[in-house]
Amino acid sequence: MSDPNQTDQCMLEAIRRGDGQAWARLIDEYQGRLLRFALTRVSQQADAEDVVQDTFTSFVRAIDKLQLKVSIETYLFGILRNEIVNRFRTQAAGTICLIQDIYHTRAEPNADNPLEQVAAGDPGVSWCLRHSEQEQLQREVLEQALRQFVADCRETSKLRDLKIAELLFYCKVPNQDVANLLALDDGLVRVIKHRCLKRIRDYCLKLCPPGDGSVCCSQDLLTETWESHRLSCPKRSTLGAFLLETLAPEWFDYVDFHLTTVGCRFCRASFRDLKEEQDGRQQDDFGRRIMASTVGFLSQT
Ligand SMILES: [Zn+2]
Repeated sequence: MSDPNQTDQCMLEAIRRGDGQAWARLIDEYQGRLLRFALTRVSQQADAEDVVQDTFTSFVRAIDKLQLKVSIETYLFGILRNEIVNRFRTQAAGTICLIQDIYHTRAEPNADNPLEQVAAGDPGVSWCLRHSEQEQLQREVLEQALRQFVADCRETSKLRDLKIAELLFYCKVPNQDVANLLALDDGLVRVIKHRCLKRIRDYCLKLCPPGDGSVCCSQDLLTETWESHRLSCPKRSTLGAFLLETLAPEWFDYVDFHLTTVGCRFCRASFRDLKEEQDGRQQDDFGRRIMASTVGFLSQT
């Protein structure tokens, strides 16, 4: 779902050509949600505005070299998050879900290897974990595998599996706490976790180029990949339908889970922005200031 779509690509190309209107449209579209996100990390409005302005500056300065592997929104959120971590060093800046603050489940060194554990309990499947120099390739394989896993859960309405996977892999909540949060039996959570990991691993194996056959995976890498591509984050249009309460009940329940139980900060920022948009917010001044400070970086050709 975070695939850079045609619209993003067109917008990027227009900005590369120095199209000021396209750049103004991009600022207008994303400033609100980025500011909402910044305000969850930085208490002062002026600091939040500064860091959002810097995010747009970094984006436009890098635009010629930029290869869009994720959506513009995901890319901008990524820059913003780094800017906040680098500038403010806030303790919670690294966590992306509210629930991670409760469970203190940030990436830790020496994390266990969930896929290896599956392999150990399932000798029938050949799963090579040898180290490879092709780290980038492995990350891409894992990303594609997770993308397929999420798409499969959605298409087959396995939303309970997706919720469990989100808590385990996106938020790193321990098994027992996942069971408590979802009012499920602890053993059932373990079974579903095993099943999800097996599917992810099987997708990895299918995606591996012939002759390679190895994807090393740690819990940290799973979480990092899930988070950096926002693999299970609902689209903005879905958040809009949630706001208008036009989603089917099971999808309404899932989006509510993502926003309130997981507490995904990216989506909460987008949601707050949508809500303000609906309430007729005025943010023209801030947008104009960003435009004035960044337009000089656009190509003059
Ligand atoms: Zn999200």
